[in-house]
Amino acid sequence: MTGMLEGRIVLVTGGARGIGRGSALLFAREGAHVAVADLSLEGAEATAGLIVQAGGKAIAIGVDVSRAADVSAMIATTVKAYGRLDGAFNNAGINGRMADMGGKLTADWTEEAFDRLVEVNLKGTWLCMKAEIQQMLQQGSGSIVNTASLAALTGFRTTAGYAASKHGIVGLTKTAAIEYAPTVRVNCVCPGWIRTDMVAQTIEQHGDALLARVPAKRFGEPQDIGEMACWLLSDRSSFVVGGVFTVDGGQMAG
Ligand code: NAD
Repeated sequence: MTGMLEGRIVLVTGGARGIGRGSALLFAREGAHVAVADLSLEGAEATAGLIVQAGGKAIAIGVDVSRAADVSAMIATTVKAYGRLDGAFNNAGINGRMADMGGKLTADWTEEAFDRLVEVNLKGTWLCMKAEIQQMLQQGSGSIVNTASLAALTGFRTTAGYAASKHGIVGLTKTAAIEYAPTVRVNCVCPGWIRTDMVAQTIEQHGDALLARVPAKRFGEPQDIGEMACWLLSDRSSFVVGGVFTVDGGQMAG
């Protein structure tokens, strides 16, 4: 049986850990040759190592997605190694807690923290899309999946810069989707609570209260998001353009 991404060249940002790592491993199991990119080159190398150990193909790239020169180099390295770029999972991101804004209401956010969230999450996603789309147009095809959040769809207290950046990703996704279809398809996934380092502390402190709002009665795992991203990157979703998909155990349904 061939995998859903057999022989496809797929880039994953934020691939050093969490959703990015889980997805990169899944894409490789589905036959993709993966470029694992992250701010942490060491972490990206570890993910690539796991893929190679399991018999797959992977390279690791160090990148700060908020820097245009880094992003151009990331795409150039991927194309140099594999000859093309069929799919990209733009997943790197940070939350408010990582900018020391945990628990802060909108008016208490600092300008620096707000800028950083927008720079990494929103501008970073746009910079990646820009470079990826240029490459994919040259080739004549490609599929892009962006990681947004439930905070891209509704308000959550104390998430000002995060929610703003993630809402922006939905707008970017829809705009590029209608501009570049059918040559390049662009979609995004909105994860609910997924068990990763990013939210470990929140889950530890408020786990029961959070779970009470999740009809599936469990937190998500990175591969739950990887499954959706894999399908969106594959030809199996060829009629899916500009979609915004919650993967949240039913949280947004109620
Ligand atoms: P994580 O913190 O475990 O992993 C994020 C990865 O992104 C890290 O490896 C980090 O080094 C990398 N990264 C951060 N800034 C970067 C930069 N400037 N350039 C390149 N890489 C950078 O987080 P995660 O939970 O795996 O989150 C992945 C994505 O999913 C993020 O966009 C996040 O906002 C989103 N998300 C997560 C959850 C959740 O519950 N975990 C929910 C909704 C959305």
